[in-house]
Amino acid sequence: MCQFTKPFQDALYIIEKIEQAGHQAYFVGGCVRDLLLKRSIGDIDITTSATPDKIQTIFDQVIPVGIEHGTVIVRHNKVSYEVTTFRVESDYSDGRHPDSVQFIDKIDQDLARRDFTVNALAMDKYGKIIDLFHGQEDLQNGLLRTVGDGMDRLKEDPLRILRAIRFSSQLGFKIENDTLSAIRDVKPAVEGLAVERITAELQKLFAGNYVKAGLIYLTDLRIEKHLPVLKDYQVLKKLSETIRPVHTLSEVICLIHRTEPKMDVRTISKGWKCSNRVLNEAIQLNEAITYYTINGLNNMLAYKLLPDFYMAFSRITEILFSQKVKEEELIKLRKNLVILSKKDLDIDGNDIIKLFPDKKKGPWIQELLIKMEELVIQGNIENKKTILKDWIKWNPPVVK
Ligand code: ATP
Ligand code: MG
Repeated sequence: MCQFTKPFQDALYIIEKIEQAGHQAYFVGGCVRDLLLKRSIGDIDITTSATPDKIQTIFDQVIPVGIEHGTVIVRHNKVSYEVTTFRVESDYSDGRHPDSVQFIDKIDQDLARRDFTVNALAMDKYGKIIDLFHGQEDLQNGLLRTVGDGMDRLKEDPLRILRAIRFSSQLGFKIENDTLSAIRDVKPAVEGLAVERITAELQKLFAGNYVKAGLIYLTDLRIEKHLPVLKDYQVLKKLSETIRPVHTLSEVICLIHRTEPKMDVRTISKGWKCSNRVLNEAIQLNEAITYYTINGLNNMLAYKLLPDFYMAFSRITEILFSQKVKEEELIKLRKNLVILSKKDLDIDGNDIIKLFPDKKKGPWIQELLIKMEELVIQGNIENKKTILKDWIKWNPPVVK
């Protein structure tokens, strides 16, 4: 019997409602695994004999996210629960989606279609664990083992290869030997996967507490050369020497570029089909790292880099340089900044034009403002119109 934590107590309502309507329902997958490991859980997934149509009649708030695969989201007290009907899958002939799914009314085959024994655990409303594939034993021994024959299961969906390594990075588990040898045989099949699925796994892998072990699997198993972007210049071995968990894809992109400057940030981002938001974040971080390598930590860095990226910046410096820049140091610098944007400067373009009425307007005005901005931020001059004007008179711009 397993002791329920708060998220499970809250989710009992869903299980009980489904049961009251005459169907079976269980907690399943990652949430049961993480409860047994005493890790904090992500989402609660529920597996049920009720079809999606039935679920829609049982609950008021149901979002049909993947009805054809049997998945709906049930909202309860502002929490989303993924509720999936017991199912078996036919082939993944495109390596991406099962060709078709068939709903069934027993949990056994539903658990058998799941990827690893530790993910094939279910739990009823009393906390009783259903463990048909020795998942609890593998949990205790820290092992990732496919449910059923490794070769068949990995060929069926080669994403499982990356999932195995991603879970090793998150949980600190080893990949069991038969599964490992199946990975060695099937690995070229990851080339056929949708890039977005690969990127999502890589992001989770890089965020895992045991990311170093994950990267070592990717390099030792020679999977890197089958992955988008990474296949061009294999950087993971070098990166694995100093890596620590990073939380965003933009950090990963920045790190890869820094490890192999021939791979530029845009190419990596495009190759992984990242959003523009991720690309822009990666550019920001990379600019900040460049600035830092030239100038070190100063007011300008705290000014240019948005506070939202301080944590990410700090994590990257720890990986790239022997000395880490602490987030608090940046926050402290920012607190003491005299201005927070160019608008706060006590001088503007019009003031400058008035100072030099005979000079032709041009980019020199902006350049001068940038110069003033820098002087003020670095504390080299007071942000006061008269003083700024004086400085300009003494250092007149050279206009070509
Ligand atoms: P996380 O903590 O990342 O959410 P998780 O184990 O819940 O981990 P999900 O990707 O959310 O992983 O999937 C939920 C469950 O669905 C898994 O535990 C597993 O049982 C099953 N599953 C997911 N993807 C696959 C797959 N590609 N092949 C087989 N089973 C899968
Ligand atoms: Mg999950």
